[in-house]
Amino acid sequence: MSTATLTTDLAALTANWRDLDSRTACETAAVVKADGYGLGAAEVSRALAAAGARHFFVAVAEEGVALRQALGEGPSISVFSGHMAGDTDLIAGAQLTPMLNSVDQMLRHVESLPGHPFGLQLDTGMNRLGMEAAEWDAVKAIALGQSPTLIMSHLACADTPDDDMNARQLARFREMTDGIDAPRSLAATGGILLGTEFHFDLTRPGIGLYGGLPFVDARPVVTLDIPVIQVRDVSPGETVGYGNAWMAGQPSRIATISSGYADGIIRAMGPKARLHAGDMPVPVAGRISMDLIGVDVTTLPGDPETLQLVGPHQSVDTVADFADTIGYEILTSLGARYRRVYRT
Ligand SMILES: *Cc1c(COP(=O)(O)O)cnc(C)c1O
Repeated sequence: MSTATLTTDLAALTANWRDLDSRTACETAAVVKADGYGLGAAEVSRALAAAGARHFFVAVAEEGVALRQALGEGPSISVFSGHMAGDTDLIAGAQLTPMLNSVDQMLRHVESLPGHPFGLQLDTGMNRLGMEAAEWDAVKAIALGQSPTLIMSHLACADTPDDDMNARQLARFREMTDGIDAPRSLAATGGILLGTEFHFDLTRPGIGLYGGLPFVDARPVVTLDIPVIQVRDVSPGETVGYGNAWMAGQPSRIATISSGYADGIIRAMGPKARLHAGDMPVPVAGRISMDLIGVDVTTLPGDPETLQLVGPHQSVDTVADFADTIGYEILTSLGARYRRVYRT
């Protein structure tokens, strides 16, 4: 078998959820959009529900329908994109709670599903989703008359604790919601770490559950082991891979491993990327191809059977740095071809 193995440590995932939960006095939800940040929303959510999570967030209604099938009745499932045209049957059928983002969405919701639970998303400066202050003032009385399940907003710079934007958004959120009798939520992973005043009634961590920054104390959740298909000697002056981008400067040994950019190993990583054989780092040699990568294993005492891209020696954020991106993109790019193993 030559497919790589992606192992998700569900015990580490639930430990991360409990750790983040222990840092607040309020409820801790779980964000499982984009198929649980690429790790499998059904498996991830079932483990988190067993650990005590009662509130899940997804990006779009279709994800909510699949999640309801995985979780069954009970946990609440909220949808960040709100109530879009065409979503009504999905929202009603799977008992989803849309986070309404505009007056249009609110009208659509109360007209098509009167009495069905909803939350509200406010814009406090990110200018991405949610009602702005003027819009909110216009519908506040009507909205609050229908007992929203949650009033939420999202921080743009929470991964940078000393950015003034955090305090500005907190102040704006308070101006828009102080005195209101509904649960409030402002913090994702970064917001939890900013401190108590950002916590309100419910937090919405995503990346921290999966072992990513800015949760520096997170336990690693993901391991990616890639089989070596072939190993060969190359002489000084010989080249490896497309475009002859790597040339041996000394007698070298090259392992060809069975994954590539079609599996989410971003091609731009090539020149900086390393893998590990046990705890020994080995550099990529040449360009990352669609399904294959050359790795310079000259320094190893023997030929490896597999090489590890993500694991205890190299976090998703280190791998992200190879491509000047973030751990979130590495996780959500993880390929469909991997054999997926869940450790409990
Ligand atoms: C993705 C997302 C989250 C989770 O953010 P993390 O940084 O992954 O913890 C929370 N709230 C909203 C609105 C989001 O879009």
